[in-house]
Amino acid sequence: MVRSIELKTEIPGPRSREILARKAAVVASPLEAYLPIVVADGLGATLTDVDGNRFLDFTGGVGCLNVGHSHPHVVEAVQEQAARFLHTDFTIVPYEIYVSVAERLVGLAPFRRPAKAAFFNAGTEAVENAVKFARAYTGRPAVIAFEGGFHGRTLLSLSLTSKTHPYKAGLGPFSPEIYRVPFPYEYRGVTSDDALAALERALITQVAPETVAAIVVEPVQGEGGFVVAPPAFLEGVRALCDRHGIVLVVDEVQTGFGRTGRMFAIEHYDVEPDLITVAKSIAGGLPLSGVLGKAAIMDAPGEGAVGGTYVGNPVALAAAAAVLDVFEDEGLVARAERIGDTIRGRMQEWQRRYAQIGDVRGLGAMLALELVEDAATKQPAPGLASAVAEAAAERGLLLLKAGIHSNCIRVLCPLVISDTEVDEALAVWDEALAAVLA
Ligand code: PLP
Repeated sequence: MVRSIELKTEIPGPRSREILARKAAVVASPLEAYLPIVVADGLGATLTDVDGNRFLDFTGGVGCLNVGHSHPHVVEAVQEQAARFLHTDFTIVPYEIYVSVAERLVGLAPFRRPAKAAFFNAGTEAVENAVKFARAYTGRPAVIAFEGGFHGRTLLSLSLTSKTHPYKAGLGPFSPEIYRVPFPYEYRGVTSDDALAALERALITQVAPETVAAIVVEPVQGEGGFVVAPPAFLEGVRALCDRHGIVLVVDEVQTGFGRTGRMFAIEHYDVEPDLITVAKSIAGGLPLSGVLGKAAIMDAPGEGAVGGTYVGNPVALAAAAAVLDVFEDEGLVARAERIGDTIRGRMQEWQRRYAQIGDVRGLGAMLALELVEDAATKQPAPGLASAVAEAAAERGLLLLKAGIHSNCIRVLCPLVISDTEVDEALAVWDEALAAVLA
C-alpha cells in the first residue's frame, strides 16, 4: 500500500521548531499554534511541513477545505482571476463573477424562490450581516442564540458565541439584546422537548417575542462539539419563528458545502430557513462568506446599509465558482456520506472498546468522539482529547478538538480524501487511541 503519511524527523522537526521560536518573539501570544508544525505545502488531504514530513490532515483548515488543499481547478481559477483584476469594490465597479456565484448558490440553497445573496469575507461578518438583514426586515432589536453555539469573534458575533474560555473572558462588555437558551444535547440529558420548553419560557421571562428579530442556530453545533439538532427541535423553532414573525437564521458556516452529506445541513430537515450564513469551505481556503436568504429580507436594509471595501472579493469568488464545479465533477456531497459511514463505523467500534469514548455523533462526514473520564459520570476529559490528538500528530495524523469542554475530537477531513487515505488515517487514529486509552 502506498502510504500518504511520511515522517522524516521527530515531530516537531528542527525547522518547525526554529520558526516557532521566531514566532514567539514577534507574533502576539493569543495566536497560539494548536499544532507545533509549520506547513510548507498542501495537496488534497495531505500537508507537508518545512521538515519534509507529510501528514494526513483531518483539521481541514477548520472546515475550509472540503475540496482539499490547493485543488488544481481552484488554483487555476484563482490564478486566472488574479491576472485579470484583484479588486474594485463590487458596489463601486461590479463584476460578473459575483453575480454568477450568487445565481449558483441561490439555485442550490433550499429556499422557495425568490432568494438573493450577499457576500462578505469571514463567517463572523456573514453572521453580523444576517442580524442586520433580520433587524432591518423586522424593525426589532433582539436576537436569540443557543448554549454551545459558536458564531464568530467580532463584537456582535462574539456576543452570540457561547463559550467563555478562551473566547469571551475579559473581552466584554458584549452587545445588548442577545438572549441565550439551551440547545438539545441528548448525551448530556437535554432533550429536544426540554430545549423547546426553555425557548418558549424565555419569551415570557427574558424577551418579548414581538421584539425578537432573529433566532440564530447551527443545525450541527461545530465548535460546540458536533452536537446534532434533532429534527423535532428545528421544526419547533421554525414553528415558533412563524408564530412570532421572527427570522430564522441557520448558521451553516461549518456545516455547509457538503460536510454533512447534503450541500447544506438544513436539507436533512423538513425546515425552510429564512437566511443561511455560509463561509469556510465556500472558497477552498480563500476568505469568502455570504448570506443567502429570502429576497424580501435580503432587500430590507436601505441602499448602502450593507457592504465593506473587500466584501465579495473577485479572486475568492473565482475560487468559489471552482469549488462548486469540483462538487459537481467529483460528486463530493455523496462522497461525504460514504466517508462518514466508514468513519462512523470505526468510531462505534472504538466506543465499544474504550469506556472513555462516551459518545459518537454527527451527520455525514461531520463526526466527533466525546471523551469522558468515566462512562457513568460522563465527566468531560479534555486532557484525554489532547493526548489522543498529540499521539496522532506524532504518527502523522492531524486531528482537531471541539466541544464546550474541549473534550471532543472532530473530523473535518477534505472530502476529496481517497479510501486508502481514510483507511490509513483510521489506522493511525486507532494506534493513538490505544496508546492513550488502553
Ligand atoms: N459560525 C460558525 C458555525 C463557525 O463554526 C464559525 C467559525 O468557526 C463562524 C461562524 C465564524 O467564522 P469565521 O471564523 O470565518 O469568522
